[in-house]
Amino acid sequence: MYDFNNIYQPKTVKEALEMKKAHPQALTLAGGSDILIQCREGKLAGRDAISIYCLDELRGICLEDDGTILIRPLTSFSHITNNPIIQKYIPTLGEAVDQIGGPQIRNVGTIGGNICNGVTSADSATTLKTYDAILEIASVDGIRILPYAEFSLGAGRVDLREGEILTGIRIKKESYENTFGKYIKYSMRKAMDIATLGCSVNVRLSKDKSKIDRVRISFGVAGPVPLRATSAEAKLKGLDITPELLETAAQAVMEDVNPRNSWRASKDFRIQLIKELTRRALKSSVEQAGGKF
Ligand SMILES: Cc1cc2nc3c(=O)[nH]c(=O)nc-3n(C[C@H](O)[C@H](O)[C@H](O)COP(=O)(O)OP(=O)(O)OC[C@H]3O[C@@H](n4cnc5c(N)ncnc54)[C@H](O)[C@@H]3O)c2cc1C
Repeated sequence: MYDFNNIYQPKTVKEALEMKKAHPQALTLAGGSDILIQCREGKLAGRDAISIYCLDELRGICLEDDGTILIRPLTSFSHITNNPIIQKYIPTLGEAVDQIGGPQIRNVGTIGGNICNGVTSADSATTLKTYDAILEIASVDGIRILPYAEFSLGAGRVDLREGEILTGIRIKKESYENTFGKYIKYSMRKAMDIATLGCSVNVRLSKDKSKIDRVRISFGVAGPVPLRATSAEAKLKGLDITPELLETAAQAVMEDVNPRNSWRASKDFRIQLIKELTRRALKSSVEQAGGKF
């Protein structure tokens, strides 16, 4: 049905890495919801594939001893949304991936595939960026640890080298502790549509809840790769919770973004979305944290 040359099915991660070494040009196949579409279009015709989908060692979510949340890359979006650790500590991620495609895609699609695919619209990417996710990448030579912030190399390109497989996504306790967040996806349809623009925000307020102690803001489709609005984050740190804060944030993020025209939306419309989604996601995050405007 699909025009692969050979499909290899390793039984362990070790075996998968050996196969990646032996067949460096072979595609890594997870849920297949991106790859199989491209195969059907003939773009990957005749390639070898290594299917890692049955490797349960690469599936699931746990809390490590120091409070770090570890998400294995084959975890499906449905499992992420329904996982008690995610619901307790980083519900924003569960809500974000619950907006992907439709139920079938959320059952088969994996978080690892979503970020390794490298597209700017990936709905998990923005929230993972705001939580300073750290990636564990394995090859037969060992493990490489890479901040997710450094993973994107350009549109559809990520820092995965020959023979490597993503084996873990970690979010440290200091990144999520006492934070409250919101992801807003604007798309032309409510389901089965990728984001025209996505915005994820999370905040930590001062003890008396009157000031921004820390804010994280990131966007999808506001540039060629998912991006963090780091200069806006620095400007907003320490500011009082006032109605003007939302406008300050909406203006500040413009220094960090670089949206473009596409058939889906004009650059001007995306700029309007960037400002409005920033206001709304920041307002919701601050209110969830107990702040009052
Ligand atoms: C109808 C439809 C609707 C969709 N809607 C959305 C949407 O709303 N939002 C959204 O963000 N996405 C959407 N997608 C895209 C897709 O479902 C996601 O990107 C999904 O997360 C891909 O995961 P997968 O496991 O299916 O990846 P695969 O197709 O198996 O792989 C995708 C890429 O990642 C690589 N890869 C996968 N896992 C690993 C790993 N562990 N290590 C190294 N490389 C790896 C593969 O080699 C490939 O390059 C949609 C797709 C379809 C078909």
